[in-house]
Amino acid sequence: MKTLLASFLALITLAWGWDTFYVTPPAQGALLWLIRQQALFLSGLWSIALMSLVMVLAVRPAWLEKPLGGMDRMYRLHKWAGILAISFAIMHWLLDMSSDLLKALIGKAGRPPKFDLAGLAELGRPLAKDMGEWIIYALIAMLLITLWKRFPYKFWRYLHRVMPVAYLGLAFHAVVLAPPWYWSQPIGMLLAVCLAAGTVASIVTLAGLIGKNRRVHGSITSIARPSATITEITCKLGSTWPGHRAGQFAFVTFDRAEGAHPFTIASADQHDGMVTFQIKALGDYTTHLADTLVTGQALTVEGPYGYFDFTRSDSQARQIWIAGGIGITPFLAWLESLQSEPADKHAADLHYFVRDAGADPFIDQLQSLCNSLPNITLHVHGNDRNNPVADAALFNTGISQDHSEVWFCGPGGLGDMLKKRFTNEWQGRFTFHQEAFEMR
Ligand SMILES: Cc1cc2nc3c(=O)[nH]c(=O)nc-3n(C[C@H](O)[C@H](O)[C@H](O)COP(=O)(O)OP(=O)(O)OC[C@H]3O[C@@H](n4cnc5c(N)ncnc54)[C@H](O)[C@@H]3O)c2cc1C
Repeated sequence: MKTLLASFLALITLAWGWDTFYVTPPAQGALLWLIRQQALFLSGLWSIALMSLVMVLAVRPAWLEKPLGGMDRMYRLHKWAGILAISFAIMHWLLDMSSDLLKALIGKAGRPPKFDLAGLAELGRPLAKDMGEWIIYALIAMLLITLWKRFPYKFWRYLHRVMPVAYLGLAFHAVVLAPPWYWSQPIGMLLAVCLAAGTVASIVTLAGLIGKNRRVHGSITSIARPSATITEITCKLGSTWPGHRAGQFAFVTFDRAEGAHPFTIASADQHDGMVTFQIKALGDYTTHLADTLVTGQALTVEGPYGYFDFTRSDSQARQIWIAGGIGITPFLAWLESLQSEPADKHAADLHYFVRDAGADPFIDQLQSLCNSLPNITLHVHGNDRNNPVADAALFNTGISQDHSEVWFCGPGGLGDMLKKRFTNEWQGRFTFHQEAFEMR
């Protein structure tokens, strides 16, 4: 993700640099004023380019899953690109505000003159400037509540819906106020591509078309409560459901007012439109979900998405599969899908971290699925809350191998701890795949 963001920004910087240092170098002026002007341009370019990327990722373009490593990673990219975009927007705004300070420090002499904007753009200048300023205030507020994890997700989601409108306002600001000579240079072409893509994505979002082609209606065929905190829901989906690969997830809407929530499809695809979700009470909606559902109820499923797919695994590497709590759901689908393959085709150690093994609803099912797969060994770890990764057995597994591949699904904190410990113990002789159950 870091490489991708850095490369994206490097491309923008290169195009800006080509124009600034080669094609149209700034006219004479005081150095500080010139630096301020170019920093203002560059921060604005970085910000709007990243925001365009954020908007494109927000429409869940499934064709980007392969190059970007799955929808959950795309959401992480969306989040961090958004945070960076707002940071550059703040920088842009501060640079704009800095003119009074510079005047006081070095005087007005040497300040580059305001460039003329073509026709209509000149008329739009005051509106574009004011709009940019007000939108930046709104974005700062949005950034703060996004980072403040205690702000309830359901309210955050409603506030987040204003982002396409904010984007269109900023696109107007950029079109009107960008230096007119940019439009005939590579930087202008890049900017135009970003703005066009971001604008289309914003319109798709505002029109409620996100994921429309991947939405399928269906109905609930059974509801079970395997434990006090887990609800198992099986559904029959309409004939347009394309099927799924084991480990994928879908956005499920049981109630239109509540909207869609992402859940892993915890069953293998049997080509009959049947899918099962195992849903843990993790928040306000999922806690009361079981009480609100009835068999036969209609639902909408959008998907499938995701790239947590063991068929991508490296056949030369030792396979270590690790689940924490409800992170077991993709592995349930994996194991079920393996039942129809030769029993010894895949070898792996499946480590399952649970809080209370005695009350866990999945251990029997896992054991029974593993019984017919002689090369898959199940290890259940009682979760020591203070040090869940202390279990030496986990780190001894595969230590003699040249390379191990770790597939992890579970709480982000546990994933980070494990990755750190593997890095210490195995010193780079592993690849770590992680499915994130968090989108904000
Ligand atoms: C790819 C993926 C796969 C998942 N698979 C499963 C699964 O198989 N079983 C399971 O029990 N849970 C799964 N989750 C987690 C599940 O989506 C959340 O627990 C659930 O949405 C919480 O909703 P809530 O209103 O009860 O909780 P809240 O208290 O409102 O939210 C808790 C957290 O859940 C996430 N969340 C809440 N609502 C949404 C939403 N509409 N869209 C995206 N994220 C949301 C946010 O990160 C939020 O901070 C998965 C999440 C992701 C991203």
